[in-house]
Amino acid sequence: MANEVMMQSFEWDTDGSGDFYKKLKKDAKTLKENGIDGLWLPPMTKGGSDMDVGYGVYDLWDLGEFDQKGTIRTKYGTKEELLDAIKSLQDAGIKCYADVVLNHKGNADFTEEFKAVMVDQNNREQDVSGEMDIEAWTGFDFKGRAGKYSDMVWHYYHFSGVDYDVKSDTSAIFRILGDGKYWEEDVSGEKGNFDYLMNCDIDHDHPEVREEIFKWADWFIDETKVDGFRYDALKHISSNFIHDLSDHIINEKGEENFYLFGEFWQYNKEEIAKYLETTDYNIDLFDVPLHFHMQEASKSMGNYDMRKIFDNTIVADFPAQAVTFVDNHDSQPGQSLDSWVEDWFKEIAYAMILFRKDGYPCIFAGDYYGLIGEVKTEAKYDLINNMLKVRKNYNYGEEDNYFDDPSVIGWVRRGDEDHKPLVVLISIKDMAEKQMFVGESEAGATYVDLSGKNEDITIDENGNGVFTVGPGSVTYWANKESL
Ligand code: CA
Repeated sequence: MANEVMMQSFEWDTDGSGDFYKKLKKDAKTLKENGIDGLWLPPMTKGGSDMDVGYGVYDLWDLGEFDQKGTIRTKYGTKEELLDAIKSLQDAGIKCYADVVLNHKGNADFTEEFKAVMVDQNNREQDVSGEMDIEAWTGFDFKGRAGKYSDMVWHYYHFSGVDYDVKSDTSAIFRILGDGKYWEEDVSGEKGNFDYLMNCDIDHDHPEVREEIFKWADWFIDETKVDGFRYDALKHISSNFIHDLSDHIINEKGEENFYLFGEFWQYNKEEIAKYLETTDYNIDLFDVPLHFHMQEASKSMGNYDMRKIFDNTIVADFPAQAVTFVDNHDSQPGQSLDSWVEDWFKEIAYAMILFRKDGYPCIFAGDYYGLIGEVKTEAKYDLINNMLKVRKNYNYGEEDNYFDDPSVIGWVRRGDEDHKPLVVLISIKDMAEKQMFVGESEAGATYVDLSGKNEDITIDENGNGVFTVGPGSVTYWANKESL
């Protein structure tokens, strides 16, 4: 299928009344009709409460089935409702991707005493204490599940770090000591070693952990029938472990049948290249550099050099590996990676992911439906639906870039045998016009601004058109007769 689009189905403050899965089931057909081909679902596993967004993973094997942490359902509904929603979405032609959180576990059942050292928050290679006896929440026995699916009880030695000592009431990062035990080496080098992110950091080197997670992945895919994994927090997890797990899944499912992508929150080009290579190019990555460029441009008062907006992005350097996006649940205001793209720039940003040749675009529910938490934003439902239609109808063929002005860029998708060209023009500063070539066969044709902002124009005898755009705006144009 050409020009597929996925959507992140949730934002941080998505309604937690438990109706989320039921609503997805109801919306399945409409979403597909609107142009959504894939859906990134929120973490399905039980977290700390029925309001846990899903990243405070308690039990991987509880998808809203057992009475644990004061609730049977997760924030989003019960396991039965989840399976029902996935089936309806898939029946409607939408692929379902699970958000898989393997870096840490939280909300343990009991505390344990063990030896650890405190490390420097900003350089985790640096110990700042001697060996100490601490007591921490590292024991998980999942009494509510009573051994169904797996009887593994997790102990401190299945983890490599914690952030709280009960005994001394101290919040700090503690590295758990044990025979040959250390942070994973094949993680991000930020903060000395970025293995530790939060809660109980899972030790992926431990053979029991490895066996459990492999077993879980097989069960989970079988049980839910999902079409792919969105790996969370990849820069904090051993890249070799993720490589091996992905390899295992692909061998079981076949490369064509299971889509792997992940969050590697990293701007550095070399680190991104290294990660893609280490994981055999089996895992696509969110285009974090492009997101940062968009945010910077949106805050630049029109002074960002738009000619460089795709420089050093994943979509430019590794087009086959890029999941392009504008914002997500972490980048939204007030969240851990707050880097929100300003509202005036959103339509421009969506044009830059939806009307390009490369990248698997991921639209954000927080933009589509609007944010509903403390910071509220207007829904861009109609705007994005219109853009999705433009993408499906016109985003084909060669791509000619006109990146010749710092504040005004444009490009033409030249179309193919079955599709007419698409012209996109962006100005982040003043009103502007630009002559672009759409094709000799278009001579004399009337082009209409599908964004609904400007008057029609006529293509001249050589196949050129002079397209216009208002200040801080984007226009997108196609042959009027092809509508
Ligand atoms: Ca880790």
